[in-house]
Amino acid sequence: MQRESAERAARVGIVGAGQLARMTLQSAIALGVDVHLLATSPDESAARVCANVSLGAPASYEALAALAEACDAVTFDHELVDVGVLRRLEQAGRCIRPSAETMAVAQNKGLQRARFAALGLPVPAFQPVGTARDLVDFGEREGWPVVAKAQRGGYDGRGVWVLADAATARDLAARAIPAGVELLAEAWVPVDRELAVLIARRPGGDAVTYPLVETVQIEGICRELLAPAPVSGAIEAEARRIGLRIADGIGATGILAVELFLAKGRLLINELAARPHNSGHFSIEGCVTSQFENHLRAVLDWPLGSTALRAPSVATVNLIPGPNGWDPLRHLPEALGVEGVSVHLYQKGFRPGRKLGHVTALGDDPAETRARARRAAELLAGPLPPESHQPSAISHQRGAADA
Ligand code: ADP
Repeated sequence: MQRESAERAARVGIVGAGQLARMTLQSAIALGVDVHLLATSPDESAARVCANVSLGAPASYEALAALAEACDAVTFDHELVDVGVLRRLEQAGRCIRPSAETMAVAQNKGLQRARFAALGLPVPAFQPVGTARDLVDFGEREGWPVVAKAQRGGYDGRGVWVLADAATARDLAARAIPAGVELLAEAWVPVDRELAVLIARRPGGDAVTYPLVETVQIEGICRELLAPAPVSGAIEAEARRIGLRIADGIGATGILAVELFLAKGRLLINELAARPHNSGHFSIEGCVTSQFENHLRAVLDWPLGSTALRAPSVATVNLIPGPNGWDPLRHLPEALGVEGVSVHLYQKGFRPGRKLGHVTALGDDPAETRARARRAAELLAGPLPPESHQPSAISHQRGAADA
């Protein structure tokens, strides 16, 4: 006869049910942690595979209160939450990790910049702008082009516009400001490489950093991850130091991903995410402890695992079918024939331009490892843009047209 254990499994609530929650669930299974999800639809990536799913809005107090009631800690798959609701839950004694305070920073690029600068960390020149005049004045002062960003709600380059001159700036301001978009102006950085550093931090401050990773971006969308990033040891150490300073500075709990620019040999901070992040997907096979497992460990205030690489080089390629691409399910068996590549499909409906999964390869030689991952990715989702390390800046036209 089966006997009930006296011990109860730890329970973690996740607000949101996208692929990040789905991959967190895979780590939770290994650790015997129960995950409860707050999803908006039963078709969401993680909701399809989780036993405990509630449907509700991520900004609803009632929905989050019920989740918090059922769980030892509540964490997040995305930032689209109401910080006021999180504060109320904290006041009611609920365990929200990361905290309402950290989520407030994670939600707002303007607030992020202000916090980084207050910590004395390197950021591009920036200024929140309320009028077309502010935006144009910023460009005249700092030089064109200027990068304008929606302070909230942007992702994958949506909500980022490169403005070539005063006329484009006025044009954007005329459309965005009346629509209620709070804008941030930033100096345009001549980026040589985009990088990311991930930190896992426990509530008491214990923290580990992951190996620095290069994030190959095209039109504001991360396409590939290359770890370790091909930069000097000094840059890597500096990136880890910056990551830890930010994690301490904003009191992060769980995974914190910090996106960085390398420009003319110098690091500048772009933005952060206070949750598992696309830039950490290489860690699933590539590191001793994945970002998802360390996120759970940190959120439950358990000891963190080693972040050491399992191979000299790791390459991850996102599966984002282009206009001539196809559903990864079509050639899955062929892709599995590429030796030594791990495939992750998120079970999201096919749409060109949508991130449907990723593949990771481990190897000794960075070029061979990357080529192998790209081969599998091309079988799965169709032709990839040519291999490059050079970030292609968000195009002026697209940025302006998207407003
Ligand atoms: P998102 O939140 O959509 O990821 P980001 O703020 O990370 O937006 O910007 C998307 C991309 O735009 C970056 O990965 C980078 O390629 C480019 N970018 C952003 N800010 C700047 C900047 N100040 N200078 C040059 N390129 C930038």
